[in-house]
Amino acid sequence: MKHSDAISQGARLIRAGEIVAFPTETVYGLGADATNPIAIKKIYSTKGRPQNNPLIAHISDRKQLQHLVTSIPNKAELLMDAFWPGPLTILFRKQSSVPEIVTAGLDTVGVRMPSHPIALELIRQAKTPIVAPSANPSGKPSGTHHDHIQDYFGDSVFCIPGGSTEIGVESTVITVLGEHPVILRAGAISKENIEQVLGEPVQMALHTDDIPLSPGMKYKHYAPNAPLELISHTAEFQERLDQACEKYSFVGVLGSTQLISKLEIQDNVLTQTLGDRNNLSEISRNLFARLHAFDESKVKIILAERFPTDGIGQAIMDKLTRASEG
Ligand code: AMP
Ligand code: MG
Repeated sequence: MKHSDAISQGARLIRAGEIVAFPTETVYGLGADATNPIAIKKIYSTKGRPQNNPLIAHISDRKQLQHLVTSIPNKAELLMDAFWPGPLTILFRKQSSVPEIVTAGLDTVGVRMPSHPIALELIRQAKTPIVAPSANPSGKPSGTHHDHIQDYFGDSVFCIPGGSTEIGVESTVITVLGEHPVILRAGAISKENIEQVLGEPVQMALHTDDIPLSPGMKYKHYAPNAPLELISHTAEFQERLDQACEKYSFVGVLGSTQLISKLEIQDNVLTQTLGDRNNLSEISRNLFARLHAFDESKVKIILAERFPTDGIGQAIMDKLTRASEG
């Protein structure tokens, strides 16, 4: 099927109240018509997503905001000018017409305009904002290639194929509704990028199980099938690897080219290279695909390298830490 045919087919399905997987620049989304609660229920049931974890509404044109939000704060305007279309989700006060199931009962709605041409065209042809969480069963690594969607959902979900996604980790989620801007979820757009645009300090939300500012942050996430352990230094890595090789029949190693080239690797080790340690965009792009590859193997444990938390590194370490807690 040609891309354009797959997009028209996807748009038809969205209008008919079905769910459709599609690529964005961050990860694949599992989308439904944002105005159709019955369609949106199918997202929750297909993913096994907890009902109190709200969804992000994706738009292709800023005019669509007028059907979703009650007002547009000046700071949101600045952020949209700087980062849309792109990987930034901004919270707004929601209009009463936005179905409760989108926002899980909150009075705010998260909105983003993706930059991926397939995502934009799908939203345009569907003629409605599309709510879409990441296209993975709840708790599993996000899908960053159409093959992952096929592995996860088989033929039960129609997927518009778009190859690998460019960024590989989800959007940054921010609120400018309080006194100070707060990042609720680290993503491709860093705190420093946002501070430059707003000209004021931005806080990172501290999530605890009691007060999840962004409900999704309290859930188990990105967990590969095998337990994952994070390790800092090359010397410590080699030592842990040798121990793991004695204890387990098959061991996974997830790390940069720099780390993997320095390790002594035994026969019962599967290495997955994330890329150049000095290029964190490359590391983030490859992250979920490599975690997914471990799920296709029979490794009993995954030893993973820690990365610096500057820029997108914050999001990378957030995903890896959650994977290690799975
Ligand atoms: P996903 O759709 O899997 O990328 O996850 C969306 C993330 O955005 C989750 O962490 C949600 O909790 C968060 N989110 C979406 N809407 C809101 C909202 N209105 N308030 C706070 N967090 C939100
Ligand atoms: Mg997700």
